[in-house]
Amino acid sequence: MTLSFGRSMNGVTVPIKLTSEAACPTCHGTGAKAGTVPRVCANCEGTGQETRNLGNFGFQEPCHVCHGRGLVVDDPCPTCHGSGRATGTRTIQARIPAGVADGQKIRLKGKGAPGENGGPSGDLYVNIKVLPHRVFGRAGDNLTLTVPVTFPEAALGSEIRVPTFQGQPVTLRLPEGTPNGRTFRVRGRGAPRRDGTKGDLLVTVDVQVPQKVDDHTREALERLREAGGGDDLRSELLQQAREE
Ligand SMILES: [Zn+2]
Ligand SMILES: [Zn+2]
Repeated sequence: MTLSFGRSMNGVTVPIKLTSEAACPTCHGTGAKAGTVPRVCANCEGTGQETRNLGNFGFQEPCHVCHGRGLVVDDPCPTCHGSGRATGTRTIQARIPAGVADGQKIRLKGKGAPGENGGPSGDLYVNIKVLPHRVFGRAGDNLTLTVPVTFPEAALGSEIRVPTFQGQPVTLRLPEGTPNGRTFRVRGRGAPRRDGTKGDLLVTVDVQVPQKVDDHTREALERLREAGGGDDLRSELLQQAREE
């Protein structure tokens, strides 16, 4: 089942059409044409088993005449051609819990194929595929988000507004000297868990370099370069690169 990101987060009840084997409605599972009845297999006398002798040993095997059924159909039912089985279609309501993740397998107890001879039904397993969101990603119970920030915002520190999934934006405080790629945690704004709590929102900052440099910006950046005091960022790297 393929779900949108929003539906996977909120949970959804969806109808699923299932086909499964059931008794043929024409012959009620006997496999015999209307008005006729299957006869007891003469080879195995209705046991469905026959004994094959190998030296002093006897092996029980399914009867080769009736294929283990114990009955032989002389006039097969035209609907099922003697098999006694038909393909039935039914629709069930599948409840997909909130917070389901891509690749998860949901077990729906008792929604599988009907049991044999009136036994309990099996389970239905639904493989979930979640379509990606434009903005939010998923890491376990947490949601992930990358936000662009300017160099001054990161260097001087700032308060920025970041979106949350299906909620109001929250204010995130960036400390002075925030490096590119640093991740901040907004508690309780992630994916819903089974116990009703929520994961966190992990916000990663992406420091932007100005693409258009006008005179005003150039002047400010030149002053910033001078303020660096000629400190060579790469001197240590160049030194270490010469080590054996
Ligand atoms: Zn038989
Ligand atoms: Zn039939």
